[in-house]
Amino acid sequence: MADDVAARAVLDLTCALIARRSLTPDDAGCCALLGERLARLGFTLEAIDAGGVTNLWATLGNGGPLLILAGHTDVVPPGPREAWFSDPFEPQIRDGVLYGRGAADMKSGLAAMVVAAERLLARRALRGTLAFLITSDEEGSARHGTRHVVEVLKARGLRPDYAIVGEATAAERLGDRITIGRRGSLGCNLRVLGKQGHVAYPDKAENPIHRLAPALAELTATVWDHGNAHFPPTSFQVSNLHAGTGANNVIPGHVDLIFNFRFCTESNAEDLKARVGAILDRHGLRYEADWWLSGEPFLTREAELVDAARASIADVTGIAAPLLFTGGGTSDARFLAPWGAQTVEIGPVNDSIHKINEHVRVDDLDRLSRIYEGVLERLL
Ligand SMILES: [Zn+2]
Repeated sequence: MADDVAARAVLDLTCALIARRSLTPDDAGCCALLGERLARLGFTLEAIDAGGVTNLWATLGNGGPLLILAGHTDVVPPGPREAWFSDPFEPQIRDGVLYGRGAADMKSGLAAMVVAAERLLARRALRGTLAFLITSDEEGSARHGTRHVVEVLKARGLRPDYAIVGEATAAERLGDRITIGRRGSLGCNLRVLGKQGHVAYPDKAENPIHRLAPALAELTATVWDHGNAHFPPTSFQVSNLHAGTGANNVIPGHVDLIFNFRFCTESNAEDLKARVGAILDRHGLRYEADWWLSGEPFLTREAELVDAARASIADVTGIAAPLLFTGGGTSDARFLAPWGAQTVEIGPVNDSIHKINEHVRVDDLDRLSRIYEGVLERLL
């Protein structure tokens, strides 16, 4: 009986979170609910809200190591209600599967983390410090979420040793993948300037398309790096290219393009910018470049945290060698890893995230919590 109640703990908390309609950046009371549970365990809570975003920083324990459990309460819009089998904000179980927006991304991860802490602390005290970093702005601009909290804590001289992000990372079975790194993403809005004129009088104009063409050929042919054991080579892709007035007798005054680098740990944003600038300059272009860095790449070395995660996953799931993964989109790990923490992402199967009828297997909820608990057991 007691075991049944324990097994339901993650399910019940996940359902309570799904029922809170927390569309980015609205937390809808999720942090209050999680904070209440953590306060009961003795955690010290601190709201580090910013720009309409709810951020909770909660800590328990003394000294090092400092391990952060991180996640987000916000969810992406569900899409049309009629496309769902059931209301996306009314958790529903059918055939051993829990449906609802945020079921996998990532309210189950947060619930499993809180229950893992409850179970460990029911058995013994911590050796070090356990912290929760919970935000309601991961799916949006992410400007006022984890990034902001990290800036605030960094300024206090705090430095974490480990961070686990509860994003859905498994491919087919719980525990089959651990995310240990991500590629970086660097974008640019580039305007190449020319001089508008009549196509019959090219000597009186300057065609920016013609000026750009050879530079673009060089950019697309450039080998930026060769990748490494964990990452494919850095890629350069043009996603938009626009010029012209629509008339066939006007040389346009400028051409606009948008391009993006997905880059590995063999390159960095400043170098890539400099190399692009050198190519544009060599071709004598006049231009305006507006760069935006979504995240630097990171790679967590195979040390204590990866070892603990592997051992715990093996205990709970029987999977002895999870894939150490570096693919997928960005997550808040991009802010935690550069802070100096060994950072991994472990969470439920991700095949339904952001989709209609998002779901998670009910059996996986308690097992995910046991995986987190096993990591805490080994490191704290
Ligand atoms: Zn997520």
